[in-house]
Amino acid sequence: MINPFIASSQVFSNTAAHWLKQHPKRIAAIVATLMLTGGGGAFAVATLGPDAADITVRNVLETVQPLALPDYNQNLTPQYVLYRTDATRASDTADTLLKRLGVDDAEAAAYLRSDANARQMLLGRGGRQITAEALADQRLSKLTARWSTDTDGQFQRLVIERNGQDFSSHIETASLRASSQLASGTIQSTLFAATDEAKIPDAVAVQLAEIFSGDIDFRRALRKGDRFSVVYETLEGDGEPLRTGRVLSAEFVNAGKAFQAMWFGEPAAEPSSAGKLAGDPGKKGGYYTLDGQSMRRAFLSSPVEFSRVSSGFAMRFHPILKQMRAHLGTDFAATTGTPARTVGDGVVSFAGVQNGYGNVVFIKHRGNTETVYAHLSKLMVRLGDKVNQGQTIGLVGATGWATGPHLHFEVRDHGVQRDPMTFAQQSETIPVSTSAKPAFERMAQQSKIALAAAASMQITSTQ
Ligand SMILES: [Zn+2]
Repeated sequence: MINPFIASSQVFSNTAAHWLKQHPKRIAAIVATLMLTGGGGAFAVATLGPDAADITVRNVLETVQPLALPDYNQNLTPQYVLYRTDATRASDTADTLLKRLGVDDAEAAAYLRSDANARQMLLGRGGRQITAEALADQRLSKLTARWSTDTDGQFQRLVIERNGQDFSSHIETASLRASSQLASGTIQSTLFAATDEAKIPDAVAVQLAEIFSGDIDFRRALRKGDRFSVVYETLEGDGEPLRTGRVLSAEFVNAGKAFQAMWFGEPAAEPSSAGKLAGDPGKKGGYYTLDGQSMRRAFLSSPVEFSRVSSGFAMRFHPILKQMRAHLGTDFAATTGTPARTVGDGVVSFAGVQNGYGNVVFIKHRGNTETVYAHLSKLMVRLGDKVNQGQTIGLVGATGWATGPHLHFEVRDHGVQRDPMTFAQQSETIPVSTSAKPAFERMAQQSKIALAAAASMQITSTQ
């Protein structure tokens, strides 16, 4: 096992010049990351990617071009190289892409239009991280695009290089590397407004809302001045962030009350729904309070994952008022096709069409509780199916008496309608096992340090 601090240091020094050039604002975060990993290594150990030293590069596809001799006339002028990094846009043409990267090179543009790799993997593809190296006269020297489309810890790298007057292209596969990011924010209006402000990816905002969903009602109970700190993983290729990984620890202060959470993978833990949120799907674990209580409850508070759509809904139509006026149950805003998930383990007691409900699923749970999921566009379970918490049971739609796509959801406890949030909050929790307690406590200490560092990031950035 390679010491993660050494691995981090090596990567840091190898790419330091590159980083300083392109990411001066992130230096503070990198230094903080190194300090954290140096403090005991638990964070680096908990990362999803392999050690930096294990990264292998494999050629997948190569377009062979005849070798051209260097054009020595070009070398009469000093050749310094300019770097620029950006992201591709779906609307990019070869010309607009190169122009945005500070490259003025008709031959390079012609090559991008003719090369199969560039046409398939670059042009018309949005959101791919791209770096251009240009000569002093703005001609292209090297173009590198990086992206990751799967969850196996790999990324693809398309390299287009100038060889004298010609260009060549090839595609490589390499391993992603996880690094910890620290961030914090304060709620002014919505969670997403705050995470946008703090430049935190949407995937992290969703995880935050899901992690604390048993304690905080993100749809109805956020207050101005609520604040959060978060430590999360970013999966990087060549030091560039390509994917968002898992939230490692977080603190959320809602209405003056602080909640803290930490990801912990117990050696023989049951797979939890929280474990499917992000990152490595094979690693079992879940979120715990720092004093060792699982944050997973017998019931989720929401049958749809938190999203920009659902967060806005509560602001415009207060679900409780709507519930009192219109019907029993809670409506969750979601677009057609959004997965509807069962909030608890149970057995399907009805799956079919009922008048006002349209396509509807009823699920019986332990303790004489039943949940109802209505107006679905598609049913994905049958009568008698056993379902596990978080499992998709259908897709959101607007069937039955629905004016627009949304999920009508009911919790019936002994036949009595209950508020889903209150009901979830009151459901049972599971503590960390005695055998895992020492490892857990070491990690909880690390999390406290990390969260304090994350909170201080905000102070620095607002000064
Ligand atoms: Zn409804």
